[in-house]
Amino acid sequence: MPFAIILNINILIIMQETPKALRLQIGLFGRTNVGKSSFLNCIANQNISIVSDIAGTTTDVVEKSMELLPFGPVTFLDTAGLDDNSVLAEARINKTKKIFNRADIIVLICEADKWGENEEYVRIQSENLKIPLIIIINKIDINPPSEAFLKKIRLFSSALITASFIDLENAENLRNDFKKALIENSPKDYFSSNLLGDLLPSGSLAVFVIPIDLEAPKGRLILPQVQAIRDVLDNDSAVVVVKEKEYAEMLSRLNQAPNLVVCDSQVIARVVADTPENVKLTSFSILFSRLKGDLEEFIKGAIAIEKLQAGDKILVAEACTHHAIQDDIGRVKIPRWLLQYTGVALNIETFAGHDYPDNLEDYKLVIHCGGCMINRKEMMSRLRQCKLANVPITNYGICISVLQGVLRRALSPFPELYELYMK
Ligand code: SF4
Repeated sequence: MPFAIILNINILIIMQETPKALRLQIGLFGRTNVGKSSFLNCIANQNISIVSDIAGTTTDVVEKSMELLPFGPVTFLDTAGLDDNSVLAEARINKTKKIFNRADIIVLICEADKWGENEEYVRIQSENLKIPLIIIINKIDINPPSEAFLKKIRLFSSALITASFIDLENAENLRNDFKKALIENSPKDYFSSNLLGDLLPSGSLAVFVIPIDLEAPKGRLILPQVQAIRDVLDNDSAVVVVKEKEYAEMLSRLNQAPNLVVCDSQVIARVVADTPENVKLTSFSILFSRLKGDLEEFIKGAIAIEKLQAGDKILVAEACTHHAIQDDIGRVKIPRWLLQYTGVALNIETFAGHDYPDNLEDYKLVIHCGGCMINRKEMMSRLRQCKLANVPITNYGICISVLQGVLRRALSPFPELYELYMK
């Protein structure tokens, strides 16, 4: 059997715990001792189970992942108190401030009649970055808020909860109030994702071409591939999964052309060569750059490849610190293909992790990885930082399609975007 109809037990295993990038990210802010821990304990008490509690280093924000029913999987990003004066405070507070780039929603805990520069900082950041804000006034058993204070806070956010998180008798009501506020205020695009649905009408057939090479993890598929398979099933369609070597033969055995072929970017030239011109084809990376980022912006950014000159600085940005292998795509393959395509020696740097280097404006182009480990909020923030620094940004899938001369075919499901590139 040269190919496998999908259903792999590993897929089921790795989907049991929702990956971090698919969880709602909740930034939790408040002064030291305002009751953030009591709040988390209260929320974690019933109807939810803590599936992980990752304490980072002393300067890291602590991530707490939970199943918050009926809402779904969430991760609280528990930040340092912005008023923390301890020795490690500066490093922690710097990390705390970066949470605004990751959080889908902000929860700010304060006390009645105490609204100072720390609370104001969180409010203004939320407002400027358009992040929904839930404000919780805690400790109302010992310090009830005045009418004037409540009136002022309601001007900042309609999502206001008054609470005493040590009042265990009332804990169920507080949990319900919080879940209701979460459902009402979470960003709309968190609930609706369009990976493949608009490209595959119900009853369609897709073919996924997935190389099993050194980069493939042993015994399983990677997250974007699993997500794409699940999306096909959610859209009442079918998918055949095959490696690039068996693809051409498998295609010849199908009694109808597939509605869509999706492949790993690294084999796109070969897959294009094996695919009839009338069959739509793209890469996982391009689909995910549409889902998580802004495909149009990434395509505009790719135009900069044509203008690169000897010595130009290029940033290859990776959103996580994965273990690089010998023939790594970001460190080896893309630099090699860039040299072949441009014919000039470029100054290519790689930077991995949640941040960019501080000198972003020094680069002529940012080539970003697929960002499978980060959420849409963080990817959009990374696009925004490039815009502010006036640096074009593209992603691996689009860059590779340009370098391999197959962009038109790789954008065949989105012909208007290819027109944009050619203008
Ligand atoms: S695509 Fe980016 S975020 Fe995903 S594993 Fe690779 S480097 Fe990490």
